[in-house]
Amino acid sequence: MTRITVAKGDGIGPEIMEATLDIIKAAGAQIEIDEIEVGEKVYLSGNTSGIASESWDIIRKNKVFLKAPITTPQGGGYKSLNVTTRKFLGLYSNVRPCMSLHPFVETKHPEMDIVIIRENEEDLYAGIEHQQTDEVVQCLKLISRPGCEKIIRYAFEYAKVYGRKKVTCFTKDNIMKQTDGLFHQVFDEIAAEYPEIENEHWIIDIGAAKMADTPEVFDVIVTLNLYGDVLSDVAAQIAGSVGLAGSANIGEECAMFEAIHGSAPRRAGQNLANPSGLLQGAIMMLNHIGQTDVAEKVQNAWLKTIEEGTHTYDIYKEGVSKQKVGTKEFAQAVIANLGQKPKLLKEVSYAKDVVLNLPKYVKKPAKKKELVGVDLFVHWDGTNPDALAALLQTINTENKHLTMITNRGIKVWPDGFKETYCTDHWRCRFKPTQGKVMYKNNIINLLSRALDAKIDVIKVENLYEFDGKPAYSLGQGQ
Ligand code: NAD
Repeated sequence: MTRITVAKGDGIGPEIMEATLDIIKAAGAQIEIDEIEVGEKVYLSGNTSGIASESWDIIRKNKVFLKAPITTPQGGGYKSLNVTTRKFLGLYSNVRPCMSLHPFVETKHPEMDIVIIRENEEDLYAGIEHQQTDEVVQCLKLISRPGCEKIIRYAFEYAKVYGRKKVTCFTKDNIMKQTDGLFHQVFDEIAAEYPEIENEHWIIDIGAAKMADTPEVFDVIVTLNLYGDVLSDVAAQIAGSVGLAGSANIGEECAMFEAIHGSAPRRAGQNLANPSGLLQGAIMMLNHIGQTDVAEKVQNAWLKTIEEGTHTYDIYKEGVSKQKVGTKEFAQAVIANLGQKPKLLKEVSYAKDVVLNLPKYVKKPAKKKELVGVDLFVHWDGTNPDALAALLQTINTENKHLTMITNRGIKVWPDGFKETYCTDHWRCRFKPTQGKVMYKNNIINLLSRALDAKIDVIKVENLYEFDGKPAYSLGQGQ
C-alpha cells in the first residue's frame, strides 16, 4: 500500500480525478489517499501561493502527488502553483510521452511515439528579472552543471530502462555558447557513458521544425526548460490532442503527476471532459511506485477503449468514433476493459522493478579561476558610441582601459556601424593594458572613478577565465 497525496483541483479537475481514481482502484492499485485543497479557492482566500502550509507537510511526507489541473485567477499577483511546486520540491525532470493513436484519434503523424524530457528548475524560469534603464529590462538565464547532469542522465537512464533507442538533445548553443553550450557539452559527456543508445544534437529551431514535421524520427528528446515547455505542447497537440497527454515531474525525493492541460472551466461540471491526460499521469505514477502490473492493466484497457471508438467529445470524429460518451461513461468503459488488450494499437508491457540509476551529483574539482576584465553596464541617453567612449576613457587608469562597447550585444565601438540601432543600455568592457590578470580592487577603483564622472553604472559583470579558457561572450562582430 502506498500513501499518496491527491488534489482534485478546479474546473474539470474533480470530474477527471474521480474518473481516474475509479479506474486505477478498479484495476487494483494499492493506494491510500490524503486529499488536499489547492488552487482557486485557496488563492481567493488571500493565499497568493494557492496552497496552505499544512498541505506542503502532507505532500512532503507522502512524496507522491497526483494533481488535477487548477485555475490560476487572472492578475492579483497569484503565483503559479505548478512552478512553485516543481521548484520547492526539486522536481527537476518533466517527462511527457506523446504518442499517436492512429487511426483511432486523428493525427497527421501516425507513427509518432516520442518522450520529451524537459529540465524543470533552471533557465529563464528562475524568474530573476530587472529593469535597468528606461528602455531595457533583463531576465537572467541560469544554467548549472548539476542541473544539466541530472536531467541528461535522467534522459539516458529513462531511455535505457524503457527500451528507447535514441536520445536527442535540443539547444541553441550556436548563439548561447556559455549556457546552452554547457548543456550540450554535458550531453556529449554523459552520452559517451551509454554507447548502446544512439545520441544526436540538433539546434532547437530546425529541430523543432523537424519534430513538428516528422516526429517519427525522434525517440527521447532532452532539452532546457523554456524550449521543453514550448516543444512538449506542440508534441502533444500534433500527436492528437493536448487532452490525451500526461506528465510526470520527478525529483530526488518527491514526484508529482498530472495532465498537461488546464482546468477547462467552460467544460466544468457537465460530464464532458476527457480524463485521459490525468489517467496517463496516474499510469506514470503507478510505474513510479512500483505497481507496474496495475499500470500495464490500466494502459492496455485504455488503449482498447480508444480502439473500440468510445470517445469523449474532444476526440470524437464521425466515421471513426463509435460512441460519444461523457467523463463517467468513458471511465466505466475503461473499467469494463480491464484485463483486455488492444488489437491494433500496440499493447504495453512495462519492465518490472525498474530502477533508474541516478547517482547524486558529485562536485567537480574547482578550476583555476582568473579575473581578466570587467563589463560595466551603463545607462546613457546619448546615441553616439564615440561620445560615450570618450566619456569612459576619462576613467581609464594607468593599467586598465576601455576595449569595447556593445549595445544589446552588438559591438558599436570601436569601429561600429552607424546603422546599428542603440538603446540606452551599454556594455563597456575594461581590460588590463598589460598582462591579463585584474584584481577586484581595480574594479572598485573603476567604479569610484565612474561615480565621480557621473557615469550611471547599473551593473557590473566580472570576466573570468577558467583553466585559462575565456568564459564570457565576445561582442557580436568582435
Ligand atoms: P485548458 O487546457 O484548460 O483548455 C484549453 C482547451 O482544451 C479548451 O478548449 C478546453 O475545453 C480543452 N480541454 C482541455 N482539457 C480538456 C479535457 N480533459 N477534455 C476535453 N477538453 C479539454 O487551457 P486554458 O483555457 O488556457 O486554461 C484554463 C485554466 O487552466 C487557466 O486558469 C490556467 O491557468 C489553468 N491551467 C492549469 C494547468 C495546471 O494546473 N497544470 C495547466 C494549464 C493551464
